[in-house]
Amino acid sequence: MFEKVLIANRGEIALRVQRACREMGIKTVAVHSEADREAKYVKLADESVCIGPAPSSQSYLNIPAVISAAEVTDAEAIHPGYGFLSENADFAERVEQSGFVFIGPRAETIRLMGDKVSAKDAMRKSGVPCVPGSEGALGDDAEENMRAARDIGYPVIIKAAGGGGGRGMRVVHTEAALLTSINMTKAEAQSAFSNPMVYMEKFLEHPRHIEIQVLADEHGNAVYLGERDCSMQRRHQKVLEEAPAYGIDRKHIAMIGERCAEACRTIGYRGAGTFEFLFENNEFYFIEMNTRVQVEHPVTELITGIDIVQMQLHVAAGEKLPFKQKDIQFRGHAIECRLNAEDSHTFVPSPGRITGFHMPGGPGVRVDTHAYQNYVVPSHYDSMIGKLITYGDTRDQAIARMRIALSEMVVEGIKTNIPLHVELMNDAAFHQGGTSIHYLEHKLGIVAK
Ligand code: ADP
Repeated sequence: MFEKVLIANRGEIALRVQRACREMGIKTVAVHSEADREAKYVKLADESVCIGPAPSSQSYLNIPAVISAAEVTDAEAIHPGYGFLSENADFAERVEQSGFVFIGPRAETIRLMGDKVSAKDAMRKSGVPCVPGSEGALGDDAEENMRAARDIGYPVIIKAAGGGGGRGMRVVHTEAALLTSINMTKAEAQSAFSNPMVYMEKFLEHPRHIEIQVLADEHGNAVYLGERDCSMQRRHQKVLEEAPAYGIDRKHIAMIGERCAEACRTIGYRGAGTFEFLFENNEFYFIEMNTRVQVEHPVTELITGIDIVQMQLHVAAGEKLPFKQKDIQFRGHAIECRLNAEDSHTFVPSPGRITGFHMPGGPGVRVDTHAYQNYVVPSHYDSMIGKLITYGDTRDQAIARMRIALSEMVVEGIKTNIPLHVELMNDAAFHQGGTSIHYLEHKLGIVAK
């Protein structure tokens, strides 16, 4: 196992990875921007290195600065967390070329899955069901593109091969709008992702977002750790996640999970990963793979008892997965509420000093946060200040515990989305389970139904 790991991230995930390392007796190096100098995980790390000013382009995304920090501290491996450089194939390559271990898949795997056209192609070949759509990227032939859309059936969605973060997508309802939409998405894709390639898919109108967590080692072993339902979203951002997903047949999950594990073996996947699917009319449709740990990994940890971050470290060190699929047991239900420093209804970020802070506890309650009383939430980054996760024998018990936990929680001095979560815990449709990805926006009146 490694003796020292550098954590190339910030916030709650930097603390989460640090805790996993400490439990395993691994020393940690925190890298931080000038804005995060006072952060809790920086103080708790064995060593810390300031890698630049507040803007992430000059610090957390600064590849040479991160690599020199690893060099000066003699770290052996780099954990990228999520966001920032975690899905940057060039970074993974530079890390390995500089003699460090990248805690994640190989650079070529990140590249393959980072291009949605090649990712879908690889998945189709591995027997993972995909959203019906164009064979590969769209060409310039207008007739052919119109024929493709007619074959798929309107509405269709035009998506950038290099897109991410919910950007680079356009829904098309009629043939009259098709060609203009393709050209506009291409132009946007070129300027946003330096890749003008776009492809076409059937636009699913009321899907749920269901994703499968996988773990794979370098020795050809791969398992799935069940699914998560992340349908509660606004502007393509997840707000609340849970595991297992309500109302989906377990045999169906096992079948899709096994396909995902098989796809990992086929592409030679290494580490933790997530296959994202849209689920509609009882069918799964692959949309993309995330080649890193996800924000919502704790709900899976709670129902499987497996520490996903520690598994990333074991696998990166070349070890075999310590279990087989038949050893993995799913028990109970877990829910995660993402805590953001933002207005509960307008979603306008609310950075600043936290003047009062009290976190809940009790049976089945887990809090992953880097925040504390007097912590100043910087304005430069994502507004997430932590995650509140509850576990119960049943979904009802997990909800009951979440309701109590939310009522105990105090965050003063900044606005948070706690009121929104309180509202959701009392929402009839959420209680019923199985709402689509549009439910929250409709509820909030963001989109007229
Ligand atoms: P990104 O990498 O930008 O997150 P995804 O391919 O994961 O892109 O899609 C993001 C979101 O866009 C999905 O969660 C879903 O809400 C919507 N979306 C993408 N493809 C489709 C589709 N074919 N039909 C309906 N909605 C879609």
